[in-house]
Amino acid sequence: MALIAAAADDNPAATAAGEVKSVTILGSTGSVGCSTLDLIGRDRARFELVALTAHRNVGTLIEQARAFRPRFAVVADPACYAELKSGLSGTGIEVAAGAEALVDAAALPADWVMAGIVGAAGLAPTLAAVKRGACVALANKECLVSAGPLFLEEVKRSGATLLPVDSEHNAIFQVLDVDRLEAVERIVLTASGGPFRTWSLEEMARATPAQAVAHPRWDMGAKISVDSATLMNKGLELIEAYYLFPVGEQRLDVVIHPESIIHSMVAYIDGSVLAQLGMPDMRTPIAYALAWPRRMATPSARLDLAQIGQLTFEAPDLKRFPALTLAREALHVGGSAPTVLNAANEVAVAAFLAGRIGFHAIVAVTNAVLEQSMALGERPADLAEVYELDRIARIRAEEMVQNRGR
Ligand code: NDP
Repeated sequence: MALIAAAADDNPAATAAGEVKSVTILGSTGSVGCSTLDLIGRDRARFELVALTAHRNVGTLIEQARAFRPRFAVVADPACYAELKSGLSGTGIEVAAGAEALVDAAALPADWVMAGIVGAAGLAPTLAAVKRGACVALANKECLVSAGPLFLEEVKRSGATLLPVDSEHNAIFQVLDVDRLEAVERIVLTASGGPFRTWSLEEMARATPAQAVAHPRWDMGAKISVDSATLMNKGLELIEAYYLFPVGEQRLDVVIHPESIIHSMVAYIDGSVLAQLGMPDMRTPIAYALAWPRRMATPSARLDLAQIGQLTFEAPDLKRFPALTLAREALHVGGSAPTVLNAANEVAVAAFLAGRIGFHAIVAVTNAVLEQSMALGERPADLAEVYELDRIARIRAEEMVQNRGR
């Protein structure tokens, strides 16, 4: 796994013990962003904030900037500029707005960048951090799904360090013997099964956005919560794992584990299975990436297996959760299929959250856009092609949403 540097004190991305680490958080107002700031706030002297960014949540961004004193605060939506500027006047914090400002913020020298923006909107800023060779903590799985090979080529070219933050990939990162991938028999991603794990297809057909975002184990942003309800999240994670851990698609598996205590496992050819366990709290994988290659204390609840009593597992029900099969097929076809899958899914999830389509239509729309797209097997040659594929898939998905209705 040459693209993710193995833990080593001599890695240039690793600051020395006791040294202040400069940090940028892309998507600081989101669930991952707030958890990252929570950890930084508990060990304030060790971190210096370079930039914080948001989309439109100016109120929270102003609060965060006043508390953490970054050099820059950026909103993606230019309409929010005036409010941000007035909210931070007199603080000396520079403010900016717009998609380019976001990329500029990511390109500023910071030792460590949290890629915590949701969706393909995170691709350009995350790549800007990668291009300057930063240590990038990757929560935004969509940028790998959308542009995996091109993204990894940039990582390789720039010498950036990629640290997986998604709890499953972080777990694998912690237990994978990167120098002996040939000894890996299987990588098993665990999935909670989401809020509808035990629901019938008929019940799911009537599911509301509020029910879909009420995840039983994890407190997350709306988009990933809906992805967890369809199991598309696990599908996106399969694709993410395929790019991060080059063992091949055939060696990637998923098992449903409703308690979300085992975050993923690596099975070796001698029959050993190594797993990482912990309570479901994103601050643990974020802390692993933030302190890497060392460790830092977190306030996360401690695992008490005797109290939990039982850990359960089941195979995913692909009939009720076809998103997993769809994502695997997109991975199998390769080329532009993952880009199209991701873009169509983003549009469909947003339409479901807005009450425009029903729950099952999320996967139906995504599937239909994939089927409609020509020459899926051809890999996008460059980022311009990725953006074009993404744009067209979004238009098609939106048309289908409009034709379909609830
Ligand atoms: P949230 O929706 O909670 O937060 C998303 C962040 O991205 C917010 O800061 C938001 O700003 C910003 N943002 C949204 N749209 C844009 C845009 N168009 N341009 C710039 N910034 C934007 O998401 P999560 O924190 O839940 O997830 C973030 C990423 O991490 C996702 O890719 C998700 O899959 C991944 N992840 C999340 C986990 C979790 O526990 N939450 C676990 C594992 C992975 P604003 O607040 O202004 O809208």
